Amino acid sequence: MTKSVLREERTFMMVKPDGVRRGLAGEIIRRIEQRGLKIIACSLAAPKRAEIDKHYPKDAKWIRRVGEKTLSTFAQYNINPKKEIGTDDIEKIGRIVREWLLDYMTSGPVLKMVIEGVHAIDMVRKLCGTTIPLAAELGSIRGDFSADSPIAAQSAMRAIHNLVHASENIDEANHEIKLWFKSADLHSYRRVEEELMI
Ligand code: GDP
Ligand code: MG
Repeated sequence: MTKSVLREERTFMMVKPDGVRRGLAGEIIRRIEQRGLKIIACSLAAPKRAEIDKHYPKDAKWIRRVGEKTLSTFAQYNINPKKEIGTDDIEKIGRIVREWLLDYMTSGPVLKMVIEGVHAIDMVRKLCGTTIPLAAELGSIRGDFSADSPIAAQSAMRAIHNLVHASENIDEANHEIKLWFKSADLHSYRRVEEELMI
């Protein structure tokens, strides 16, 4: 394989407020470094609501995706969404969950990071595990350190507490890195294993 085929990427990751408060930042950083990925920026921040509002998408497609997921959880547990949160409209529910997400992400400090490496975006998503901790693979951060579920979250009118955020694709990564860091704060260095692992 030639070097040009390899995808050196940058991605954005956050240890969410529950991860910081549970003292998991070190464990999460350990897993990133163990995988051969390089942390090129890292700092603690207390996000403002407006920053989190810019961080998460708010297009109709994303809102509908979250609304649909939430509605299907209610259906699975035979819960009437109108009784529970006052509406069964997909978009309204999507917007309500987004507000819960803003509450969650501003509930305490977060550790924000930029991570670089070959296939960094997919690798970091894999390290995190799937969105719902109850369903996340054992061995992933969400699977190993949480058992939160959509129904537990919805019953408490809150976002799913899943310890970490990671960009899903290159567009999200570019948007999020730019939002959270100045380019002067992104550092460049070589890890000694790079010659062996790439
Ligand atoms: P991620 O990329 O895996 O973090 O998942 P999404 O981008 O779909 O959602 C963003 C965040 O919103 C998740 O990490 C959860 O904290 C929260 N969330 C997503 N879906 C739901 C849901 O159906 N119900 C609730 N209560 N929270 C959700
Ligand atoms: Mg996402």
